[in-house]
Amino acid sequence: MDLICLKDICKTYYLGEVEVPVLHGISLSIRKGEMVALMGASGSGKSTLMNILGCLDHPTGGEYWLDGREMSSLAPNERALVRTEKIGFVFQSFNLLARTTALQNVVMPLDYSPSHTSHREARRRARELLDRVGLADRIEHVPSQMSGGQQQRVAISRALISRPSLVLADEPTGNLDSHTSVEILRMFQRLNAEGITVVLVTHDPKVAAFATRTIRIADGLIEADETNAPVDAGTAESGVWRAESGADGGSEVALPEPSASAVAQESASDSGLGWLGSLLPATWRTALNALRRNKMRAGLSALGVIIAVAAVIAMTEIGQGSKAMLQKSIASMGANTIMIFSGSTTNSTGVNKGMGSVVTLTPQDCREIARQCPAVQCAAPLVRTRSQIVCGNKNCVPEQVYGTTPDYLEVRDWKKMELGQMFTERDVLNSNKVCVIGNTVRQSLFGKQSPIGKEIRVSNVAFRVVGVLSRKGANMVGMDQDNIVLAPWTTIKFRVSGATLANTNQSASATSESSETAADTSVNTLSDLYPKTKTFYLSRTTTQEADRPVSVRFTNVDQIVAKAISDKKIDKAIKQMTSLLRQRHHIRPPAEDDFMIRDMAEMTKVMSSSTQLMSTLLLVVAMISLLVGGVGIMNIMLVSVTERTREIGLRMAVGARSHHILRQFLVEAVVLCLSGGALGILMGRGASFLVRWIVRWPTQASLATIIAAVAVSVLVGVVFGFYPAWKASRLDPIEALRYE
Ligand code: ADP
Ligand code: MG
Repeated sequence: MDLICLKDICKTYYLGEVEVPVLHGISLSIRKGEMVALMGASGSGKSTLMNILGCLDHPTGGEYWLDGREMSSLAPNERALVRTEKIGFVFQSFNLLARTTALQNVVMPLDYSPSHTSHREARRRARELLDRVGLADRIEHVPSQMSGGQQQRVAISRALISRPSLVLADEPTGNLDSHTSVEILRMFQRLNAEGITVVLVTHDPKVAAFATRTIRIADGLIEADETNAPVDAGTAESGVWRAESGADGGSEVALPEPSASAVAQESASDSGLGWLGSLLPATWRTALNALRRNKMRAGLSALGVIIAVAAVIAMTEIGQGSKAMLQKSIASMGANTIMIFSGSTTNSTGVNKGMGSVVTLTPQDCREIARQCPAVQCAAPLVRTRSQIVCGNKNCVPEQVYGTTPDYLEVRDWKKMELGQMFTERDVLNSNKVCVIGNTVRQSLFGKQSPIGKEIRVSNVAFRVVGVLSRKGANMVGMDQDNIVLAPWTTIKFRVSGATLANTNQSASATSESSETAADTSVNTLSDLYPKTKTFYLSRTTTQEADRPVSVRFTNVDQIVAKAISDKKIDKAIKQMTSLLRQRHHIRPPAEDDFMIRDMAEMTKVMSSSTQLMSTLLLVVAMISLLVGGVGIMNIMLVSVTERTREIGLRMAVGARSHHILRQFLVEAVVLCLSGGALGILMGRGASFLVRWIVRWPTQASLATIIAAVAVSVLVGVVFGFYPAWKASRLDPIEALRYE
């Protein structure tokens, strides 16, 4: 049966405008099991015909039937598949992968075989083949450590690994001395005897004599087709060859039976990657080996990514640190502060009485806000009074005299005391007459003396100074924040302002209505010389008494100040507080809130815009440096594709399809970028650690950045590796093999 059938095969090369006709209609058929020598002068078109036979190239005219299937019209990838399944190639120049062991070279075609041979099985087969060609002890040698004959034997093993039915050899002995040539040719004879069809190209009649049939080509046409005498090549025309092979005598080089010991012997380093090799998919193995072979270049190309990622990581860590510090310092200005005032009411005649005209906020509200609202970090009640402070012969009127709890300092981010201590919760419970003063008050009352333990009088109530607050300066509206006196709210409420200030109404709003009307008339009546004496105790009707049993002391506070846990949580905190207060104050949907909540929207905006700016800047710098790193990778990958053109051609010749090549180069780029990224992360973290350690800048590690850096470096690998990989995959196998 015919394995190969050529009908009128023509091949014309087109060099721009010029046509170079090489084959002018070649018809021949080769049966299974033949050993054919294609002979002809140099330039007669032997290699061209061979490439067509090997499905590396397609003819410009005619039909090529291989094993009953027409080949000339197949697409490149389909031809590649035929090559892996049916054809083994042996080249004049061996075409072994440099810096790759014999074993790996032999295994290579199986990576592209659709048969999915396991790596273990592939190695076993390769070992067996190398043993048969007498190279059992050269398995770990790389081509540069082997003689030409040994290299060609490795190449023959490679051609046989996927068990082809056809072996094509283009001048397989062209680069070998005559003694080695005989060894190689005997090997082909032996293969042929095992049933493999062999086609040899040669210009040397001595080589052709080893075949059973010789086809001569001249000027693109078959000149002669003759069957050789079925005798051993040694008895043929060449005396020299006979002499040499005779001298070699009994040394049977060709394909000895495998020795069991060599095949059984396994070494972990076969794949070049240790145990990892057999676990990885072929593409990864190939890519990693390619990188391993070029460590220096791989390192250099990854350097761009390493530096980029390191810079990004270091910058983000430092940036995050300063951002957090900035955020904290803006927060200490009160950006996260939320103030709750008791609401305004509109009386029956439609006159709005302004903020605070109803007293609704209680210290319990404050406590519950701090306890129940997750977005609120802390909260403190505030009772305001304005009064003269006297100490000895000096006096002053602070802008703020506040009754509050120790939590107030946390709300205001006022954690440091300059002297002494803040008063305690116990002082609040006991309405102790203690206070802390701001720096301005201290200056005006005590000058350079320490005020701790001294007494000051607030509205004629003596307070002992227990602490001095640290300086805060003026706030955004120019108010001196240090002109302040803080005391327990209970003390201010019940000992200072309770007796003096009219607006701290100690009764519920509903019950005060009647007295207010009375007060209104009394104020507006000009005829009354003496205003009615104010009733100290409010009058209550009997129904009112029954409805609301007298609460012992309904304590209200003027204001509650709270702090959200972060600037982003302010809205959430407001929502939580609103619903909590409405619930606590029994307000049903149509009714409006009886309190008002204010936040520092302006300051929050400044804060978020400044931190936003910083993040954006960092991102831009990160992007640019990664881009530079990526361009570096692309550059070197492109160089490497050019440099490895022959390798690519070879891989394609033994059956790699374009997606194999594309994937291999993509994986190389991604591995480069990933390892660069990993190293970069380490270096970046190291750098930020050094910065924190030496320069003492705040840094903040973030897992998100590290994950992003890894993801982005993979992306960079894919994006910038794609073009070179695509270019490689589009190479034409023959052109690539010829590339110098
Ligand atoms: P040989 O018989 O020595 O192997 P080839 O088949 O390699 O000869 O080449 C046959 C002819 O085809 C030569 O004249 C060569 O110049 C020409 N040729 C081969 N390959 C190409 C090509 N890619 N483009 C143009 N001409 C080519
Ligand atoms: Mg040639």
